[in-house]
Amino acid sequence: MPEFEGLLEGYRRFRESGYPIQRARYDKLVSEGQHPKTLIISCSDSRVDPSQIFDVDPGEIFVVRNVAALVPPFETTPGQHGVSAAVEFAVQFLKVRQILVMGHGMCGGCEAALSQDFHGNEPGAGGFVANWVRLLDNARAKVVAEHGTEGPEAKREMEFAAVRQSLANLRTFPWIRSKEESGELNLRGTFFAISEGVLYHLDKGSDEFGPIE
Ligand SMILES: [Zn+2]
Repeated sequence: MPEFEGLLEGYRRFRESGYPIQRARYDKLVSEGQHPKTLIISCSDSRVDPSQIFDVDPGEIFVVRNVAALVPPFETTPGQHGVSAAVEFAVQFLKVRQILVMGHGMCGGCEAALSQDFHGNEPGAGGFVANWVRLLDNARAKVVAEHGTEGPEAKREMEFAAVRQSLANLRTFPWIRSKEESGELNLRGTFFAISEGVLYHLDKGSDEFGPIE
């Protein structure tokens, strides 16, 4: 399997150089446990790895990645709430100080939400994606009303709207809301424009994204 061999080449480089450099840090992370200060919600897209973009060391960020960097609203219905479990663990047990939602350009999940191409498809044929991005139904309706369903502007606005939606959904978790209000926890929206290699930040006052200098 050339794909696996390719990964092993990287692993051997890591064992030869990366791991020895980080050895002391890893030892400390073993003896003292992990204490990341930041939870990052990012997309599964192969081009937007938070540890690459923020150039962080092992133990620094707790990361949840899924299609379109989405957080469902707080809900206690039966089911395996994977994102909520990770958020709960990071906020309540690891006691992270900030949550970063990081959307990105050229996001296939946001594109699927906007185009609704997979709507009505069976699981395995886009049905899982279609159902997942229904979390963006309300956000989509607003984007479509203002920008339509096609073109770079509509796509970018859908990607921005997805970040805002995940932040709004995070605030439906009662313990996140209370910790944000008391100043224990900071919520931030960000966006990585792959084509520019630039990170955008969502301004809390204006609710608009702007590039970070
Ligand atoms: Zn994406």
